[in-house]
Amino acid sequence: MPVSSKHAVVVIDMLNDFLTGELKCERAARIVPAIQRLLKGARSAGVPVVYTRDAHLPDDCELRVWGEHAMVGTPGAEVIPELAPEDGDHEIPKRTYSAFHDTGMDQLLRSMDVETLVVTGIHTHICGLHTAADAFFRGYQIIVVTDGVSAFTAEDQKYGLEHMEKVLGARMLSTDELLAEWE
Ligand code: ZN
Repeated sequence: MPVSSKHAVVVIDMLNDFLTGELKCERAARIVPAIQRLLKGARSAGVPVVYTRDAHLPDDCELRVWGEHAMVGTPGAEVIPELAPEDGDHEIPKRTYSAFHDTGMDQLLRSMDVETLVVTGIHTHICGLHTAADAFFRGYQIIVVTDGVSAFTAEDQKYGLEHMEKVLGARMLSTDELLAEWE
């Protein structure tokens, strides 16, 4: 599978604090079934799965904007049980929006010869967008799973999707379309 072997699915911030806790996003619950199906397909097709998750320390810049959330070592910073990582998956803790900022993300992806990031999770216009932008700057292709990303509002979602498509050249695919490509 020459195409799928170069993909990696990135699951961004599907954490307790963002689904049910400090920064609860009502809309995010809707994308869980699609991500579950996508991860099942990825694991059986040999597509790497990378969880990127906020793991904040008290002096992180972002807390000035959002207040305390996903503090390192707390239950709020854990991936929701419905999407719990499995053996063989990868985890990249991060301290701001981009999964590439001061993390081992780039090295991890290059070690697996990944060329295309499949973006899922929240929020489309914040961590999704900043992670996709940093991936773009580093030469990666981007696929956005349109039913696997979410944001606080429909406007936030639209802004994030449009920016990734028009400015970062991302392909927009549904879960079903992507699963078909991996078959
Ligand atoms: Zn954060």
